[in-house]
Amino acid sequence: GSAPAEIKYRAIELETNNMKIKFPCQLFIDGQFVDSEGGKTFETINPADESVICTVQYASIKDVDKAVKAAKKAFEKGEWSKISARERGQLLFKLADLMYQHREELATIESIDSGAVYTLALKTHVGMSIETWRYFAGWCDKIQGSTIPINHARPNRNFSFTRREPVGVCGLITPWNYPLMMLSWKMAACLAAGNTVIIKPAQVCPLTALKFAELSVKAGIPPGVINVLPGSGTVAGSALSSHPDVRKLGFTGSTDIGKVIMKSCAESNLKKVSLELGGKSPLVIFNDCDLEKAVRIGMQSVFFNKGENCIAAGRLFVEESVYDEFVKRVVLETRKIAIGDPLNRSTSHGPQNHLAHLKKLLQYVEIGVKEGAKLEHGGKRLNRPGYFLEPTIFSGVEDHMYIAKEESFGPIMVISKFDDGDLDGVLRRSNATEFGLASGVFTRDLSKAMKFAERIEAGTVFINTYNKTDVAAPFGGFKQSGFGKDLGQEALNEYLKTKTVTIEY
Ligand code: NAD
Repeated sequence: GSAPAEIKYRAIELETNNMKIKFPCQLFIDGQFVDSEGGKTFETINPADESVICTVQYASIKDVDKAVKAAKKAFEKGEWSKISARERGQLLFKLADLMYQHREELATIESIDSGAVYTLALKTHVGMSIETWRYFAGWCDKIQGSTIPINHARPNRNFSFTRREPVGVCGLITPWNYPLMMLSWKMAACLAAGNTVIIKPAQVCPLTALKFAELSVKAGIPPGVINVLPGSGTVAGSALSSHPDVRKLGFTGSTDIGKVIMKSCAESNLKKVSLELGGKSPLVIFNDCDLEKAVRIGMQSVFFNKGENCIAAGRLFVEESVYDEFVKRVVLETRKIAIGDPLNRSTSHGPQNHLAHLKKLLQYVEIGVKEGAKLEHGGKRLNRPGYFLEPTIFSGVEDHMYIAKEESFGPIMVISKFDDGDLDGVLRRSNATEFGLASGVFTRDLSKAMKFAERIEAGTVFINTYNKTDVAAPFGGFKQSGFGKDLGQEALNEYLKTKTVTIEY
């Protein structure tokens, strides 16, 4: 359709990672970059050297209201409401193409803002985000209802059909571990379904969301369809979740805040809500597995993205007869992890996301030691600028310990032993948690693996692998890890409503 709009914004320009990067630092409302009402700002910090990257506008309650009005107008009367589903898909494909063209810039911004190593940011944070946009762009013109024969009131002929309609204005609130990917998982499904959206990214990592907003203008996404409001959870986040004109709230974050959000969604206007929350995912290693692979993947299950991974294996259960060997090998391999500057291509482990999180992790280690778990490796902050924590391993962890029960969300491996042959026992211990996000099992015995998959209380089960998340497969937790799915066809349901139309003829 129309030519891409000219975008004016106060740009932050930096030279880093052997390239020039440029991104906005203002709020994005109704297709414009603007300062916040009241003019409050906050600083965003590079966790690799503790320097201030830039000052960002801090969204107020008034800004949330402005953004919701813009999103409502775009949904009800704007260009977005008039184009066909197929045209909508084309716009999203164009946006994905632009993200691909800017992938190195996006990955650099993500790396300096979140501490993700650049290579991972490029492949996963940005790479999977692009894949997600392409996947959902393809769904736009395939959303359809069904025809249902109904028989009451014969001899008249009757039938019903269903319409799958967008819910309207949606609010998204996302965490800091994969800033662009969490935005993409939710927003791509939300826009594919035909909604308009306001996102409040995590306060500590707002920059890729703002760069993304700039690209959305270039792609020709009409004004008001996407609004980005950096700021805090207690101000902008809660104003969004309690707003009476927001019809759906998609949240990823901690279980505690999930509960606060659900309550405010209920009390304001009973808006639809989906929650992707915390986890303490068990990974069970049986003695009949490929141990070399279990060691390699077991390490990734904990240390991937410096442990700031919602499905990270929070607890490893290792069968007694391979326990000592497993611990010995993971300690040996963990010593080799290259920790340091995330922009350096040979680094595989970057700094923790922000200072408060690092402090929480150091406390977690301290509790583990106090309670008598064996600290096999790591546990210390590196003596250099930046929020670096050594990859850490605890063995001999018992069920009653704090570190056996609580999520760390950091690079801390927690290993426990289980008796040889005790599938029932290890399943009971694995399920003895209020979380139910993910799980994993290593064994060559298919029956054992399938019994585990059947009986484990978790939204995802990995067999002889881990972290293998794909845009086509639904993702989400059970129990207090939340409800509702991201990714796959199921994610569309979170952003659609079904209307039944009945006809007599
Ligand atoms: P958090 O719950 O503190 O914050 C998440 C988001 O909610 C942020 O944008 C924050 O500003 C906002 N927020 C905070 N208080 C709010 C309030 N009162 N009202 C509205 N919004 C509010 O979580 P975090 O520290 O950013 O992220 C870490 C947690 O997220 C971990 O527990 C982790 O397991 C979880 N997580 C889950 C998944 C998943 O898919 N299940 C993915 C990533 C992270």
